[in-house]
Amino acid sequence: MAVPEPAMEVRDLGQRWGLYAPEGGLGRMSLGWPLFRLPMHLVDYVIAHELAHVRAPGHGADFWRLLGLALPEFEARRTELDELGRRMWMGDIAWDSRIPVSAPPTDPAVHPCRPGPRPAGP
Ligand SMILES: [Zn+2]
Repeated sequence: MAVPEPAMEVRDLGQRWGLYAPEGGLGRMSLGWPLFRLPMHLVDYVIAHELAHVRAPGHGADFWRLLGLALPEFEARRTELDELGRRMWMGDIAWDSRIPVSAPPTDPAVHPCRPGPRPAGP
């Protein structure tokens, strides 16, 4: 993607999968730890998504264009993340076999980064 590499951390982000904050230097990418319960190609999607925010802060056309250059199949991965993530929040996919799933978050449909409208056109 040819963007400067921000600092990176894994932490609790509530219902978000990832977050990019353009603070100091090259900024900071945070990844929510539940993300790592999902398949690695979806982790890649979230990382690519947050890296695109280094150059494009919002979810405008320039953001989706940049993400599409780095990850041409991003739409399919985004759809899969939405579906699999929703199932995980709802308890269809266990967080951890040692922890019973009893209280999913109140709004399971919330997407991490509030992706906004999908890009126009094919
Ligand atoms: Zn985003």
